[in-house]
Amino acid sequence: MRCRLLIADLGTSSLKVMIMGGGGQVESSTSEPVLTYTEGKRHEQKPAEWWKSFKKACRTLHNQGTGLDVDAVVCTGQMEDFIPVKDGRADTAILYSDQGGSRRLQNRHLASDAVTAVTGNDWKSTTPLMKWLADEAPEKWERVLFGSKDYLIYCLTGVSVCDPVNGTVTGMMNVHTRTWDEQLWNGTGISYRQLPLLLEPEDIAGYVLKEAAVQTGIPAGTPVCCGLGDGGAVTLAAGFQAGGDSGYAYAGTTGWAAVPADTLAMSKEGSVFHLAAPQKGQFIKIMPLLNMGNVHQWAVHTWCGHGNFEEFEKLAAEPKAMPESLVFIPYLNGERNPIVDEKARGAFIGIDSQVDESHMARAVLEGLAFSLKQVFAQAGLASSSLFLVGGGTKSRALRQIVADVFQCRVQVSAEQERLAMFGAAACGWKAVHECSWEEAGKALRGIDHRDIIVEPDVSKKEILVKKERLFAEAARRMRGIFDV
Ligand code: ADP
Repeated sequence: MRCRLLIADLGTSSLKVMIMGGGGQVESSTSEPVLTYTEGKRHEQKPAEWWKSFKKACRTLHNQGTGLDVDAVVCTGQMEDFIPVKDGRADTAILYSDQGGSRRLQNRHLASDAVTAVTGNDWKSTTPLMKWLADEAPEKWERVLFGSKDYLIYCLTGVSVCDPVNGTVTGMMNVHTRTWDEQLWNGTGISYRQLPLLLEPEDIAGYVLKEAAVQTGIPAGTPVCCGLGDGGAVTLAAGFQAGGDSGYAYAGTTGWAAVPADTLAMSKEGSVFHLAAPQKGQFIKIMPLLNMGNVHQWAVHTWCGHGNFEEFEKLAAEPKAMPESLVFIPYLNGERNPIVDEKARGAFIGIDSQVDESHMARAVLEGLAFSLKQVFAQAGLASSSLFLVGGGTKSRALRQIVADVFQCRVQVSAEQERLAMFGAAACGWKAVHECSWEEAGKALRGIDHRDIIVEPDVSKKEILVKKERLFAEAARRMRGIFDV
């Protein structure tokens, strides 16, 4: 199965564009920085800058001698944006992380059980924003887009689309039928024609327009797939690379365990959310952790200086006589799993007079690994093998500690940075060859990724099992302690 694709990933901090050759090899790639404008709690980006960066990236690829004559263009990118469009232009993209004042009307409203059954989640994300826009600023928009990649598609083809993965987080899509639900967007003051067209990730959204062809160098008439939000693209690629439907753990700034699911299952104690999976009729169940790489960064900053990851690696590497009693609870920002507790905070327990900063540094990483294991179990995932993704995997110490705590082989993708693009590539293959997801996955597996494999140290098992129990017990007993 061969096809040549132009793939773009428009993330929060960078736009990456690559040409994937007929056999799945990366022919050439480039990236451009993406700026976020923050003012207080407002987090915005400028869609005009996205498009400018995309054109520049295409020019760079062209100047490198790479032809842009591809079978299809596929895009992925940040999700849960809110992008009002007027006269074919968008001035602002309000980001998922934006918590700005009353005009945003609080991004996430709690949804009723009936809404949850339809949307898969117990919050409404975009509807309050839509209502605000319809009420306060009707002159500012005539349609709305929800994903960064959808703006690129709009500029390339003139068509406004949304994929079911990103559609889920708007809180207006029925996750079962993968269509906008009238009851959900009704009352927002907008009409159906102002919403983007919901397509499947492998559907062709449109064809490159003449004007866009002149600006980018991509031949006019090239098909452009709908693609999918990066949460879905990473899950798709992780599933294919891990060689099954086994789920994976994400150790980025925050963390999560993600697992493919056939049904929706809300959690009684912790927090769970669902995305419609790229595959029709399936879901991705996600158990989030608020504390992961951000805690790692805090520890690096505290003991080694800001961003001095290498120094921290040395500090946390196997200190002498690691105390068996020392455990770190990493809830610096409250936590969502195993229970939702906004007031929870971090703690070291079991400190004795022998404890020094290297023990504490290692205890921090162990605490993060215990948290990941808890959330993995909660997601119903067997911890017999683990596919680990996210920037936290750059830490050798964390990778090894996770393998030791899980007592299983940890597979880390060598293509961390491009994982979402590989997921998008599967959509391209499916579109061009009209093949099944399995066949697209096989093509993706065929690419030599040279993943990093970390084997567990069996000699650590006993002590880490004891510590894990101590961790769980300490976290349990600390519940409510900050209510005083
Ligand atoms: P995001 O979820 O924001 O996309 P990333 O996947 O980039 O996050 O992961 C960010 C985390 O990666 C940081 O919080 C830190 O824990 C880890 N990290 C980043 N750079 C390094 C490094 N050089 N060495 C070790 N860990 C790193």
